[in-house]
Amino acid sequence: MTKTNHDFTLFQWGEAEKTLQKIMPIMVEEQMNVANIDIINPLPEDKQQDIKDIPFLEEPRSADEVIQDMRDLVYKYRTMQNNPKFFSFIPLALSPISVVGETINAFYSPYGGSHTLSQGMAVAEKRLLNWMGKQVGYPVKELGGLFVSGGSMANLTASIVARDEKLKDTELYKGTVYVSDQTHSSVAKGIRVMGIPNANIRKVKTNERFQIIPEDLKRQIEQDKKDGYIPFLIVGTAGTTNTGTIDPLHQLADISEAYDMWLHIDGAYGASALLSSHRELLDGIERSDSISWDGHKWLFQSYGCAVVICKDRQAMARTFNENPEYLTDIKSDDSNINFWDMGIELTAPARGMRLWYTLQRVGLKEMRRAIDVGFDNAAYFETLFKQEDYFEIVSPAQLSIVNIRYTDKHHSEEELNQINHKLSEMATERNDAIYYTTTLNGKTVLRFCTINPLLTKEGVEDVVANLKKDIAALGLVKL
Ligand SMILES: *Cc1c(COP(=O)(O)O)cnc(C)c1O
Repeated sequence: MTKTNHDFTLFQWGEAEKTLQKIMPIMVEEQMNVANIDIINPLPEDKQQDIKDIPFLEEPRSADEVIQDMRDLVYKYRTMQNNPKFFSFIPLALSPISVVGETINAFYSPYGGSHTLSQGMAVAEKRLLNWMGKQVGYPVKELGGLFVSGGSMANLTASIVARDEKLKDTELYKGTVYVSDQTHSSVAKGIRVMGIPNANIRKVKTNERFQIIPEDLKRQIEQDKKDGYIPFLIVGTAGTTNTGTIDPLHQLADISEAYDMWLHIDGAYGASALLSSHRELLDGIERSDSISWDGHKWLFQSYGCAVVICKDRQAMARTFNENPEYLTDIKSDDSNINFWDMGIELTAPARGMRLWYTLQRVGLKEMRRAIDVGFDNAAYFETLFKQEDYFEIVSPAQLSIVNIRYTDKHHSEEELNQINHKLSEMATERNDAIYYTTTLNGKTVLRFCTINPLLTKEGVEDVVANLKKDIAALGLVKL
């Protein structure tokens, strides 16, 4: 028996257990009730001061006291993004199963960076990455991937690989990247971070369905080549954040092949459709070189779980590892992958284990059913909105997003924009359903993203009924 030093509060598992046993039922109760409380909870000024006034002392405080502060002052003042009637951004559809997986992983805290230190974790995560890559349609034997903190890091990681595969160091300032006017802002941010000038990012126009226009893309590439640029990367989106639009994947693949460019597909939000009953929507995604796919969006994971997958793991390793022997090693066999050779981070948590646990625990059938609900609810919203002439469907239900607005013939465009703003504010004021506005084709619209499978049909009906009441309350129509 090794004698251990028990002097430290820091290192007492028994105390940790007691604390968790005490706090766990309270936290579970809170989460179970999240659909029945205010969604938005701004931090009042006095409470803000209270947080600032909590000193860092020489002496310890009791767990009870500190946790009380955390609950009453810190966590209480957050937007309950996991309320099923929070429809903005991409909501947090937090599954308790994912929390269990993350908690178990936190206990063991395996070193996520290397195979050497955590062989079991490395093999399990690589198996999961292979499986996800297989859903994309990539050849499993060659693919590489990595769990990262989110879609932004996934997009950045893939873009760096694209840069290194397609450009020489001396050509950086000539390299051009092609996105659409609907591409997520994290893409351009990543491109700048990796040293490509802002001016070399081409925002290609989208059509009436908010898809990138392939002809315009091609024309822009041709023009850039004529002007001495080196087009090297196309970023398509499978599920835009605004409208759920999927870019024409086959056409993007044709163009990237014709010009020997890298094709990255940002599926941070939409790639989860691969596991739904609507997989065919993503046909062609298998022709891309890399994809991003968030676990913390439509796979119901807690924040900090996403993947980047490259069709060719050697390309990832060429970028993030300098050792030629290693490259030969992993060519034939991926069983001893060190994740630190596949991306930017060295020490990292095993971000994928919660998803591994989730898929094992609930099975694919349930995942499919949970994702399908998101499709169904967006479609149901659209059906209900279509019943009134004063609703314009600005973008129909695509994946789990629908965009609409109130419209009539008596108000100017500017006035209509203000009215729709007002309608969003009225819901926020009631604080039982949150749908913020976004701008599409210069119009202010109400955006609904329905990935949370806890939302019921009745819930959808209630939201539409309240919106209609708001419209009546503004004197715009009679109910
Ligand atoms: C959310 C999102 C991102 C960014 O992902 P994070 O996980 O927030 O970093 C990128 N692209 C798309 C399409 C997204 O919806």
